[in-house]
Amino acid sequence: MNHQRSSPKRPMPSLRAASAFICVLCVLFATARPVTADEGMWMPQQIPALTSKLKSMGFAGDPSAFADLTGDPMGAIVSLGGGSASFVSPAGLIVTNHHCVQGALQYNSTPDRNLMEQGFLAKTRAEELWNGPGSRVFVTVSVREVTADILGKLDPGLSDRARFDAVEKRVKELTAAGEQGGLRCTIASFFEGMKWFEFGQMEIQDVRLVYAPPAGIGNFGGEVDNWQWPRHTGDFAFYRAYVSPAGKAVGYAKENVPYKPKHWLRVSPKGANPGDLVFVAGYPGRTARLTPYSEVKQTVEWGLPRTVERNTDQIAILEKLSQEDKETAIRVSTRLRGLNNSLTKSKGVLNGMIQGGLLAARKAQEQSLLAWIDANPKHKADYGDVLPALNALITDRARTRERDSLLAEICGGKGSVMGAAQTVYRFSIERPKSDADRDPAFQQRNWSRIREAQDRLQRSLDVKADRVLMKYSLAAVAKLPASQRIDILDKEIGLSTEMSEADADKAIDAFLRKLLTGTQFYQKDVRLACLDRSTADLLAMNDTAIELTAALYPLAEEVREKSKERSGAGYRLGPRFAGALLAQSGGLVAPDANGTLRVTFGQVLGVAPRDGLWFLPQTTLQGVVEKATSTSPFKMPEAQLSAIKALRAGKMTPYLDPVLNDVPVNFLSTVDTTGGNSGSATLNSKGELVGLLFDGMFGTVASDYLFDPVRTRSIHVDARYLLWTMAEVDGATNLLDEIEGRR
Ligand code: GLU
Repeated sequence: MNHQRSSPKRPMPSLRAASAFICVLCVLFATARPVTADEGMWMPQQIPALTSKLKSMGFAGDPSAFADLTGDPMGAIVSLGGGSASFVSPAGLIVTNHHCVQGALQYNSTPDRNLMEQGFLAKTRAEELWNGPGSRVFVTVSVREVTADILGKLDPGLSDRARFDAVEKRVKELTAAGEQGGLRCTIASFFEGMKWFEFGQMEIQDVRLVYAPPAGIGNFGGEVDNWQWPRHTGDFAFYRAYVSPAGKAVGYAKENVPYKPKHWLRVSPKGANPGDLVFVAGYPGRTARLTPYSEVKQTVEWGLPRTVERNTDQIAILEKLSQEDKETAIRVSTRLRGLNNSLTKSKGVLNGMIQGGLLAARKAQEQSLLAWIDANPKHKADYGDVLPALNALITDRARTRERDSLLAEICGGKGSVMGAAQTVYRFSIERPKSDADRDPAFQQRNWSRIREAQDRLQRSLDVKADRVLMKYSLAAVAKLPASQRIDILDKEIGLSTEMSEADADKAIDAFLRKLLTGTQFYQKDVRLACLDRSTADLLAMNDTAIELTAALYPLAEEVREKSKERSGAGYRLGPRFAGALLAQSGGLVAPDANGTLRVTFGQVLGVAPRDGLWFLPQTTLQGVVEKATSTSPFKMPEAQLSAIKALRAGKMTPYLDPVLNDVPVNFLSTVDTTGGNSGSATLNSKGELVGLLFDGMFGTVASDYLFDPVRTRSIHVDARYLLWTMAEVDGATNLLDEIEGRR
């Protein structure tokens, strides 16, 4: 097979940025012009409108099947509340990525039985391990447009702050009404607040770990290979959803029984092959393709470089700690992995935006919009003031961005004792209010989650990690410019702008000694009991973490208030900005990703990442052997080596690809995905699962901001690698039987 022939020609370097820009416009204009792009994280209900495009790509099925959320295959697609997954058996078996089950592996690991390293396989249902509190599976069962309910008859004379409240009130009312039938309801905004939709989800609350291969397969290549091609990672794992014997979605209980989904996917033993049309259905997190240029510019000039610098330092800090203490290593493992993942992605985005010219192309795109507005008096009257006003908001936010980010890091740091104190303290302030007046995060519908999060925190809370990470944050606080000082911290720690670094260091150490020894919040029982206490009772505890939280609370509130006011302005301006973009483009445009269910489709296809280089679209077991060394992250399990030897000696397997004469491992496709899509089912035209989406490519992750239609690829694990590993390496025959319908 000659893959090169079907590859799109890479444009000349000088034209690349312009070409990306032109092709983005192609998609925005949605003309009949054929583009190589498969841009579009489409809302399921948009898919029928793409019928002619799908037909031109060889799709013979019924596109409207993708709009039917309770039918086949969409009824089998689920969210893990952060990653994506799908049902693959009538007994609630769920397949997702190995990296999406890290939390469950961590929760169940001990230094002597580190499941993140050695993997896990339940041979019977009784052996399946509870993922721990807070683990969820969401099945989206309904979508309804509610734009008129949210934006209808909003008094244009409202102040921005009042508009924020009015929108929030309507969202709360709709949510409450939508949840009366027992579903979890989410109201989400699309196209910068121009459209709003309500999603009804069934929320399964007892989720158990069934099988995850060892790190030598599931995370083969680790951070060295992360975001790279060629890739050889067995990034798959299995959960099972449980409900009460009466079929109700309830919390973990021993007597719970496997959930019986109405739909589950057939796992195809034929996998995906070059040229195949593939669909990915899942929950992409965030993209920013339809936002103002100045927002993207700020991300490129400030946000991403800051992430790169801080993640690099925090990784070094946590790795050192992990080497010193095995227990701490388990506690910080998930955080460390997250930091590494976003570090590499941020570098990739920066590379694409700057060296790849996408930032310049994004600027040109906006200039074309401005020219379109300027050229027509009506457009000018409708939209002329929008961008300057949006830009002013962005500039305003930038004035205190360093201070606000550090404050959030200190008060709300996930997995830290201060984060716990902040939740408990804010909960004590919000709880006495009526539900309608509470901050949405603290409404009654979230109380069990708040409790579960404080319970689960015990597996990642670590005083040593808090000490070094807080010290790192406070060192940055000490260096804040005069215009952004945090007075409370200056006073509590004894910091000042004139202070030498060494003196600041000493003051911070002394402060942290007091803070971290004077809090009881490392104890789970105390945290949980405090969720029932009043603010006065909390303050009477003389707990140092609560005292600091209380002292910082007025500033944190001020920051939240400012942000609400800006959001209110955003509700006024955003829809008009999106309106201008859509009016300029005409035709069908996919909204930016916002964590809701999307479908994207494309082709299994290689790519030319650089001049003179062509990446084949598939990798095989041969590549695993070639990469293998005796050390992590390239240490393949013995059982895998033996299975490969047996295969080479002629052992038959139905998962062998006759063209490759090997078992395929990973493949590339042109589908449009981003973080959150991890674990998404990759489907063929018959709606069968042919693989799992698990990554993007370093060279084109900047597509989150402007789609590169020539080179963007996503990385999937082939279903055949999954099945072969289960059959020949890990002995997961019980699950194979279940998937293949023998059980
Ligand atoms: N590269 C990631 C990993 O395997 C997942 C992809 C994503 O975050 O979008 O850790």
